[in-house]
Amino acid sequence: MSEPEFLLYNTLTRRVEPFAPADGTTVRFYSCGPTVYNPAHLGNFRTFLFNDLLRRAVRLRGWKVRQVMNITDVDDKIIKRANEQGTQIRGITEPVTGIFHADRSYLRIEAAEAYPKATEYIPQMIALVERLVRAGVAYQADDGSVYFAIARFPQYGRLSRLDTREIKAGARVAQDDYAKENAQDFALWKAAKAEDERVGAAWDSPWGRGRPGWHLECSAMAMDLLGETLDIHTGGVDLIFPHHEDEIAQSEAATGAPFSRCWCHGAFLLTEGAKMAKRVGNVSTVQGLREANVSAAAIRHFVFSAHYRKELNLSEEALDASAEAVRRVGDFAERLGQAAGGTPALAASADAAVVDFKAALFDDLNAPKATGALFTFINSANAELDRGGRDAGALAAARRAFEIMNGVLDLIPDRTVADPALAAWVEERLSARREARQRRDFGEADRIRQELTARGIAIEDTPGGTKWKPVG
Ligand code: AMP
Ligand code: ZN
Repeated sequence: MSEPEFLLYNTLTRRVEPFAPADGTTVRFYSCGPTVYNPAHLGNFRTFLFNDLLRRAVRLRGWKVRQVMNITDVDDKIIKRANEQGTQIRGITEPVTGIFHADRSYLRIEAAEAYPKATEYIPQMIALVERLVRAGVAYQADDGSVYFAIARFPQYGRLSRLDTREIKAGARVAQDDYAKENAQDFALWKAAKAEDERVGAAWDSPWGRGRPGWHLECSAMAMDLLGETLDIHTGGVDLIFPHHEDEIAQSEAATGAPFSRCWCHGAFLLTEGAKMAKRVGNVSTVQGLREANVSAAAIRHFVFSAHYRKELNLSEEALDASAEAVRRVGDFAERLGQAAGGTPALAASADAAVVDFKAALFDDLNAPKATGALFTFINSANAELDRGGRDAGALAAARRAFEIMNGVLDLIPDRTVADPALAAWVEERLSARREARQRRDFGEADRIRQELTARGIAIEDTPGGTKWKPVG
């Protein structure tokens, strides 16, 4: 069976277009990642979940994926915080990077193939700036910093479609900066200040001590790890201007080749209409949601309830509705696992569901419609399973269809979270076991382990602590 065409909205052309990887086999995509000065909020994770959906859709279509996501571990906010706390930038970024990965894996966001850190790519960044200086599109100003001269790159503004006046307004923050030829020129390399040196955020370069500009990082790491022309570049809509516009300018002015064939941008997650941001109070952390027993499956369902290009409102009611929806997915998975056979109609609905699911998913990642196909299937399959049936082939088809769809959406709730009373009991027993082990009472520790096993809980001691899960 031939697969439906894979369509994506390309911000560069403002059109939904057929997409295929340039080499026909592997989709090389770059996603702007977190700035690790504060744990990412659910808004950031909406964008990362959209990347996860894209990865999984691409694989379902039969292509391989090579995804790179940067970790911005040097920037103004990080430097400011390190100075405030009297530590080095690493003292801020390392723990936050750890939290990012813990939250990411809680949300079942598949790991990218690489997570380059900006501070580990300084030589590549310097080489890129040198290339731009040689090409005559970058200059060192009196303040010691190196800037990109946007007037010498005529295509500037193509992605964001801003006219010169709007670009000027966007650059107003820097207009008191007289060192630049043009207020809109952006920094490639920033001359080091005392506060940068103090926290380990300065490196040697041909232009003296300094640090990379944020836009430069992404261009240098993307091209180093994925080549001069990417298949897809992703990020939230707020990154179109200036960040992605500047990435294009730097990369294309250096190589003469298109930087990315397709640009995909996710819309914002809002809290009651207001954009979520780390600095204001309306922040939901993944940790907070975890503590409130909101399952990863429910969060995924909630995020996928809107198309990635539409804004989505975070609300208690919406999360509750998603928790209820994924409970049905979990119940159905269990039922499917235990069923002894099916009916021909079960097989037919399984096949139809997969066709509808792929058609929706490959149509610019229409997750709400794809989720709809899964639930239509669950309803009709439940009705068929009520009728019994002994057809093993039909049951196998239903299981396969469910695996295909759930392999992308990943919506089975973790039973540890589904039953908070059980979770609390397990945590209490584990802490008693920890105490027993600390006082070297291994008999008691073993007894607690058996007590847990008796209630169907398997435990595993890891360097990061004891993990547990229900089995059977
Ligand atoms: P940052 O850590 O601020 O660099 O952001 C990481 C990613 O999250 C970027 O792709 C942003 O575009 C995206 N982002 C930031 N805020 C939101 C939001 N409220 N909703 C969706 N995506 C967001
Ligand atoms: Zn970026």
